[in-house]
Amino acid sequence: MATIIDGRAFAADLRARVGEAVAGLAARGVRPGLAVALVGDDPASGVYVRNKGKQTRAAGMNSFEHKLPADTGQDELLALVARLNADPQVHGILVQLPLPAHIDEAKVINAIRVDKDVDGFHFENVGRLSVGAEALPPCTPAGCLLLLRHQLGDLTGRHAVVIGRSNIVGKPVAQLLLRAHCTVTIAHSRTRDLPVVCRAADILVAAVGVPQLVKGDWVRPGATVIDVGINRVAAADLDAAGDAAGASGDAGASGDAGASGDAKPAGGATRLVGDVDFAAAQQVAGAITPVPGGVGPMTIACLLRNTLLAACRIHGIEAPAGL
Ligand code: NAD
Repeated sequence: MATIIDGRAFAADLRARVGEAVAGLAARGVRPGLAVALVGDDPASGVYVRNKGKQTRAAGMNSFEHKLPADTGQDELLALVARLNADPQVHGILVQLPLPAHIDEAKVINAIRVDKDVDGFHFENVGRLSVGAEALPPCTPAGCLLLLRHQLGDLTGRHAVVIGRSNIVGKPVAQLLLRAHCTVTIAHSRTRDLPVVCRAADILVAAVGVPQLVKGDWVRPGATVIDVGINRVAAADLDAAGDAAGASGDAGASGDAGASGDAKPAGGATRLVGDVDFAAAQQVAGAITPVPGGVGPMTIACLLRNTLLAACRIHGIEAPAGL
């Protein structure tokens, strides 16, 4: 049976280490601040923003939340970003995605000061990541790498297969794995013979959004499986399949809530499952992240880490070791 990679515990430890570093900065007169802008009333985004605020304050940082109505104009949002860019109390700026259709997401993200772009989505940070320059890495991918390094140590020479090529998970995870000297294959919806591609992986990262797509026999014996997927499905569907995945806890307790657009709907029992058939894969893998409680809680922990790093860079302070 595979080792279960406990992202919840790792994230709690990372948040505690960030908190200690924040306390250390206080002596130098610096208190990191994270500003989050939320446009509209998407319930999933609302849950995520609330969790961010809570954890930001718990780490000893300032949290600035800007809730704007759904009909906020693009210029108004850009004006807010400009104010936050200039605000010395703000070291990290995050505009919660998705934005309403009338707002050009790329325009807003690229208006954020590069050194305050703690989501790592500004095109300059994306480019910096790909050429190996110093960059704030996107939070969920950074969380995947921290868990992999914790589990495997040096990743050099390992064959990593990433399923998914989105700009927020698949591509940046692949970049980070490449930086860690892995041999990287990126698979996606048009990949042929996906099970065969997956079976070649020492490290398999699933970032797809299809419940339990990856079957047990897609996993190479002993491989490390990182399941980024967060899919809410009707419990009845799982029970009918005789599958208990996700039954051990729900998103609220795990920190997965709202991590990627998930919010608990009203009515009808539901469960969270990943992109991997956990019950089958854990029989084969060497180590595996569960859903919930794997990658999910790492996202906000890495956001706090990025905010701390941004504050250090902005103030010309060396980043604390061990983060
Ligand atoms: P996305 O929809 O933007 O991208 C999905 C990718 O999967 C695409 O590149 C597509 O080519 C690929 N794909 C789709 N169907 C496929 C198939 N049948 N076979 C192979 N590839 C296929 O999704 P995303 O934003 O990258 O998110 C992926 C998953 O990760 C979702 O479940 C999301 O909820 C989750 N997620 C979790 C976190 C977190 O844990 N904090 C953060 C972000 C996303």
